[in-house]
Amino acid sequence: MNTLVDGFGRRIRYLRLSVTDRCDFRCVYCMGEDMTFLPRAQVLTLEELTALSRAFIELGVEKIRLTGGEPLVRHGIAELVECIGSLPGLRDFAMTTNGSGLIRHAGALRRGGLDRLNVSLDTLDPSRFRALTRTGDLGRVIDGIRAAREAGFERIKLNAVILKGRNDDEVPELVEFARRERLDISFIEEMPLGQVTEHDRAATFCSSDDVRGLIERHHALLPSTESTLGPSRYYRMADSDTRIGFISPHSHNFCSACNRVRVTAEGRLLLCLGNEHSMDLRGVMRRHPGDGERLKAAIVDAMRLKPEHHHFTTDGDVQVVRFMNMTGG
Ligand code: SAM
Repeated sequence: MNTLVDGFGRRIRYLRLSVTDRCDFRCVYCMGEDMTFLPRAQVLTLEELTALSRAFIELGVEKIRLTGGEPLVRHGIAELVECIGSLPGLRDFAMTTNGSGLIRHAGALRRGGLDRLNVSLDTLDPSRFRALTRTGDLGRVIDGIRAAREAGFERIKLNAVILKGRNDDEVPELVEFARRERLDISFIEEMPLGQVTEHDRAATFCSSDDVRGLIERHHALLPSTESTLGPSRYYRMADSDTRIGFISPHSHNFCSACNRVRVTAEGRLLLCLGNEHSMDLRGVMRRHPGDGERLKAAIVDAMRLKPEHHHFTTDGDVQVVRFMNMTGG
């Protein structure tokens, strides 16, 4: 029992672990403006998060990404990184963050054993940034990215969700920023998760092919076979180290190669981003504290629930009622 294989023969090697549903931003495509967050008792403790990570690693998971909500608003995040970072068998330890806490935390994260960072950044215009995130300060995020590089993080990757009419005009500028700052960048198609209020998803949908067209006006993109176990398809430019990735849940369905599962902040194992199939692992841990074998058996058992694929459409309908902050992005 040391590998996880689902009913379609896909081996699970990658866990995305949400450490909180809370966030200091309220990005318009990710959350409502007024959110109710989970009571603390329902959120996994640092010990439970570590126990879960250990169980997944013992079941053959090689890569863990901490996410949320915003992982850097979780109390004890540096301590958690240190605990998970020291687990034997973990090959790739990453975090997705909005970057606002990096000035404060980058050094401790790197020292704790975190290998890589993805920072979400959709615009380089401060007032647009404020409008898209509803609360965020662009300068702080950019300073945070630089602080992370100084702390020793290499190959930091930006994640940009592109919406037509809101930030698609900035695609070339985001690429130039990534080249100048020696960062990678992935462009993400917006997914129909949770009800959004500020835009009509059908009208703002911008496909990866649209984004690629915008970039190719300035740079030839050469396909690359590199993979980070994630869903990005990568391209390179001849005159730069920057990699450009496309995450295309609508236009280039990646389910057949899916090697991932997610655990929400309340310990629900989600087998697919675009479906509701799940299993309550917090219940298992709280009924049987310290029983790693029982936890692993529950995880193995859940593999039969992993659906073959998601069914996103671009007509603007909400397909999954969970917002991304609940799912763990
Ligand atoms: N707070 C962290 C951050 O900002 O990166 C981690 C969590 S956030 C939910 C993870 C990623 O999900 C971000 O890059 C965000 O842009 C993306 N995201 C959120 N809602 C999305 C949606 N509806 N469609 C596509 N990407 C989304």
